[in-house]
Amino acid sequence: LLEMNHIRKSFDGLSVIRDISLSVRKGEVLSIIGPSGSGKSTLLRCATLLEKMDGGELIYLGEKAAWEEDGKCVYAGKNKLKELRGNFGLVFQNFNLFPHYSVIKNIMDAPVCTAGAPKKEAKEKALKLLADLGLSDKADAYPYQLSGGQQQRVSIARALALSPKILFFDEPTSALDPELTGEVLKVISALAAEHMTMIIVTHEMQFARELSDRIIFMEQGVIQAQGTPEEIFEAQNERVREFIGKFQ
Ligand code: ATP
Ligand code: MG
Repeated sequence: LLEMNHIRKSFDGLSVIRDISLSVRKGEVLSIIGPSGSGKSTLLRCATLLEKMDGGELIYLGEKAAWEEDGKCVYAGKNKLKELRGNFGLVFQNFNLFPHYSVIKNIMDAPVCTAGAPKKEAKEKALKLLADLGLSDKADAYPYQLSGGQQQRVSIARALALSPKILFFDEPTSALDPELTGEVLKVISALAAEHMTMIIVTHEMQFARELSDRIIFMEQGVIQAQGTPEEIFEAQNERVREFIGKFQ
């Protein structure tokens, strides 16, 4: 579904992503782990077109969103990018809900205002998503009236409202208490069981181990190691072992 080839990105001369290549197949769950500052969020932001890459190639469903020409990164036209954006949804660490919109309006906003879905249809879908995520009674609440875990589930519902083919998560539980973390991880596990394709940046090692088909360990802007959870957790790689050890 997604292919990234030889991605490069630097900020003010600081090389943050150095020649990273990865691909994700349909139904695959890929977790990205690694120390703070290793470039995980930057990689997700490049993959989701929030950040412009300096070099490399980005391909969604066989269609090029960006490619390299004369050593520079060139992006597809506005309309093409808009179309390709429809393939993925994003869930951030800090929920990023619209504070002045009710829960249901948060979820319906993009389908109605961006994708042009009929209101009635969007509302039915939003209510169904809320029911699936155990939030039926919160449709008319405002984000400030919800717990962190509930807000994060709403933001997952919002991402799902556009029927994405890939869901990206950037540390979806790191702003939550351990108690609330569980309810969000449960939702993500349920999505995995339905074979949703997901790329998840996380510090939840046990979760990554149980859920992922593949884990990537990033450090200093490169993929230091990747493999199945078994391969990563029973790592031969000294650095990976040291990193994972910190969470145990
Ligand atoms: P964390 O686990 O703490 O979230 P991360 O792996 O997600 O870390 P990034 O957020 O990708 O790391 O940051 C990688 C490096 O890039 C850091 O040194 C950061 O300071 C730098 N960086 C990220 N975004 C910008 C920006 N917009 N401008 C300048 N530097 C940036
Ligand atoms: Mg980050």
